[in-house]
Amino acid sequence: MANDNLAAVLYGIEDLRLEQRPIPAISDDEVLLKMDSVGICGSDVHYLVHGRIGHFVLTNPMIIGHEASGVVAKVGKKVQHLAVGDRVACEPGVPCRYCEHCKAGQYNLCPDMVFCATPPYDGNLTRYYKHAADFCYKLPDHVTMEEGALLEPLSVGVHACRRAGVGLGSKVLVLGAGPIGLVTLLAAQAMGAEQVLITDLVQQRLNVAKELGATHTLLMNKDDSAEEVAKQVHKLMGVEPDKSIDCCGAESTTRLSILATRSGGCVVIVGMGAAEPKIPLINALAREVDIRGVFRYCNDYPAALALVASGKVNVKRLITHHFDITETAKAFETARYGHGGAIKVMIHVQPKDTNN
Ligand code: NAD
Ligand code: ZN
Repeated sequence: MANDNLAAVLYGIEDLRLEQRPIPAISDDEVLLKMDSVGICGSDVHYLVHGRIGHFVLTNPMIIGHEASGVVAKVGKKVQHLAVGDRVACEPGVPCRYCEHCKAGQYNLCPDMVFCATPPYDGNLTRYYKHAADFCYKLPDHVTMEEGALLEPLSVGVHACRRAGVGLGSKVLVLGAGPIGLVTLLAAQAMGAEQVLITDLVQQRLNVAKELGATHTLLMNKDDSAEEVAKQVHKLMGVEPDKSIDCCGAESTTRLSILATRSGGCVVIVGMGAAEPKIPLINALAREVDIRGVFRYCNDYPAALALVASGKVNVKRLITHHFDITETAKAFETARYGHGGAIKVMIHVQPKDTNN
């Protein structure tokens, strides 16, 4: 069908539908993308199950999806750096470019950010999607479309490691071995960490972390005392980590990340848990442990792409499942319940490997 624009539209809680949408018209600084690969993120599942994340509430039908790559189908008049046929990764958040934060180079903090599949803005699990051209990154021929889609979570890992100041010889503790913990592990290694210890409640996820090169893994139980686990971390690493990156956001992992970090080190919180968890703040204060937040990424896509293109990071191992866009419901079910050891579930809008 010439104007087939099948889209996965979230209407409300537990109500995800496939339907036709008009192919969008582009403005002079945009490109029209023929979408290829779209990964499912925990937040997509969260919108399906809860209809909201914090103060972002789904009130109108919204196309889901934001970890994506596509092929340029049309270019706006002012677009210089892309041409029809280019394969691109799509950075999903487009800021206003005018506010103080944008001007200061922290565009991820822009209050007027238009972010794919964050209400009220449509995402890109659809055949055709338009996007600001300067937030599309051309992929070298040897980088696959799936890798292009995975630049989104990888950018979170890169941003988290940059916020933590991971560098040559860093000893890093990563809490949680979900997709975000795993990309943080990969980024930390690529940025020169000497050791990365990663924790999780699920052994199978730790096995993947080990395969990806984690120097140590530690299986935890939900009710373990953070004080005790911190001791185990120190014993396994032989030192106290100077950076801890919480990619889980449970109260227990945030507590552990503070208690385990060496004095003068840095804790970075990526995982989103309770709004006001109970954490040992005075412990951090008295030992000058810095606590930093992470909100998505900012100027991190180019580094993420360089890591993948150079072969320093292999994100492919994260992908455990593949579905066609017509099987979106099944894809979400797999991601939601972790069926078959799901880590990253990839949805193919074009038949798999079409644009390799
Ligand atoms: P996920 O749920 O797949 O992974 C979390 C992992 O933590 C799971 O493997 C789980 O078994 C493990 N876990 C749970 N409780 C634990 C505990 N007490 N100790 C150790 N491990 C534990 O989620 P994900 O997609 O990897 O994302 C991780 C977190 O990062 C989520 O909270 C997500 O919302 C958040 N996130 C934040 C940003 C940001 O910009 N700050 C961006 C993306 C994701
Ligand atoms: Zn702005």
